[in-house]
Amino acid sequence: MNYEVLVVGAGFAGATISRKMAERGKKVLLIDKRPHIAGNMYECYDTNGVRIHLYGPHIFHTSKKNVFEFLKKFGEFYPYDHKVIGNIDGQLVPIPFNYKSLEILFEKEKADQIKEVLNQEFGENTKVSILDLINHNNVIIKEFGKYVYQKVFAEYTAKQWEMPVDKIDNSVINRVPVVLGYDDRYFSDQFQYMPKEGFTSIIENMLDHENITIKLNTNALDILKLDFENGKTFVNNEEFHGKVFFTGAVDELLNYQYGALPYRSLNLVFEQYDKDYYQTNSVVNYNTSEKFTRITEFKYLTNQKLDHKTTILKEYPLKYDYQNTKSDPYYPIVQKENLELYNQYVNDLANIKNFYLCGRLAEYKYYNMDAVIDRALNLVEEVEE
Ligand code: FAD
Ligand code: UDP
Repeated sequence: MNYEVLVVGAGFAGATISRKMAERGKKVLLIDKRPHIAGNMYECYDTNGVRIHLYGPHIFHTSKKNVFEFLKKFGEFYPYDHKVIGNIDGQLVPIPFNYKSLEILFEKEKADQIKEVLNQEFGENTKVSILDLINHNNVIIKEFGKYVYQKVFAEYTAKQWEMPVDKIDNSVINRVPVVLGYDDRYFSDQFQYMPKEGFTSIIENMLDHENITIKLNTNALDILKLDFENGKTFVNNEEFHGKVFFTGAVDELLNYQYGALPYRSLNLVFEQYDKDYYQTNSVVNYNTSEKFTRITEFKYLTNQKLDHKTTILKEYPLKYDYQNTKSDPYYPIVQKENLELYNQYVNDLANIKNFYLCGRLAEYKYYNMDAVIDRALNLVEEVEE
C-alpha cells in the first residue's frame, strides 16, 4: 500500500487525525464503512429542505480554545447559546433546572424560601450536582433536591438508560447541573457556536487535502488483518509498515471474542410538518411523559428560514444489539464490568505495533465532540514527536 497512515472512521476523530497527519506530509488513506464522511456528525437535507442531523442532534460547545481555533480553519461559526425546555407535568420550564423553573413550579413564598437557603449554602449563581442536593443535611435543600431529582432526572434517565438510576455512573447525571440562578443555557462552556454550513461541511473541508485519500463503503474488517503473535498489521494481505488509527468498535474488530460491549441505542424518528415551527424551542425534553426523551426542531439549530416547512426528531431510547444492523452503538454504558471487558480488548491490541485507538467507539467513552477532537490532536502530537 502506498500510504504511510491508515485511518479507520471518518468521524471527527478520524478526520482530525487525517488532517494533522496530512499536514505533516504523510500520505493518508481514510476509510469508512458508511457511504458518507462525518461519522455521527453527518447532516443532509431532507425533502423539506431542512438540514437534519441523521444520527441525532449535535451542538458545539467547548472550553478548549485549541479545539475551537482548529475547527474555525474549516468554516465559519456563529454564536449559539443552546437552551433546553423541559416538559414537566405539562409545564414548560428551563433545563438545567434553574430559579426560573423553580418559580414556575412552586408558590412564590416557597420558591423564595428555597432560593434563600440555597444561596446561603452554595452562593448565588453557582451550579451544583443534583446528587449534592439530595444528599444534603439541610431538610429544605434535601426536599428540593428530591423534587428536582424526581421531576427532571428519574423518569428521563430510566427511559434513556433502562436501568435503575443508582446503576448509572454519576458522571452521566452530572452532565446536567442544577443552576442556582437564572443562567438558562444548557452548557457552561466558554465557546458556544454552531457551524454556518453545518458539521459535515467542516469535516469535508478538513479532509480536503492533497495527502488524504478517502474510500467510503469500505469496512476495515474486510481489509485489515492483525497478527498478534508478531505484532504486525496486514492490509489487503500485504504487511503494512505505517501507522493505523482505528476509531471503530474494538469488540467488533476482534470478533466479539470476549463478548459484546454494551451500548444504548436510539430509534430516531423524523417527522415533517407544513408549518413554520412545531415548538417554541430547539429542544424540548419530556421529563415526566412520553416514550421518547426529547424533540429537536432542526431549524433552530441550522438557522434556516423556511416558510411553512419544518422537521423534528423524536429520540426513542433502545437497547443496542450488535447482531441487529438497524441499531447503532450510540452511548457506551459506563460501568465497572463494561470497562473491564473493554480493557481485555485493549490489552490484546496493545501487542500490535503502531496501532492506535481514538474516539467514542474505540475508547468506549461518553465523549463530546470537542473532547474527541482534543484527544485526536494530542494523539497525533504524541505519536509523531
Ligand atoms: P463517530 O462519529 O461515530 O465516527 C466513527 C466512524 O467510524 C463512523 O463513521 C463509522 O462508520 C466508522 N467505522 C466504525 N467501524 C468501522 C469499520 N470497521 N470500518 C470502517 N469504518 C468504521 N457531542 C457534542 O459535543 N455535542 C452534542 O450535542 C452531541 N450530541 C450527541 C447526540 C447523540 C444522540 C450522540 C449519540 C452523541 C452526541 N455527541 C455530542 C457526541 C458526538 O457524537 C461524538 O463525540 C463524536 O461524534 C464522536 O466522533 P468519533 O469520530 O469518535 O465517532
Ligand atoms: N438527564 C435527565 N433529564 C434531563 C436531561 C438529562 O435525567 O432533562 C440525564 C439523563 O440521564 C441523560 C444525562 O442526564 O442521559 C445526560 O444528559 P445529556 O443531555 O448530556 O445527554 P445527551 O445529550 O448526551 O443525550
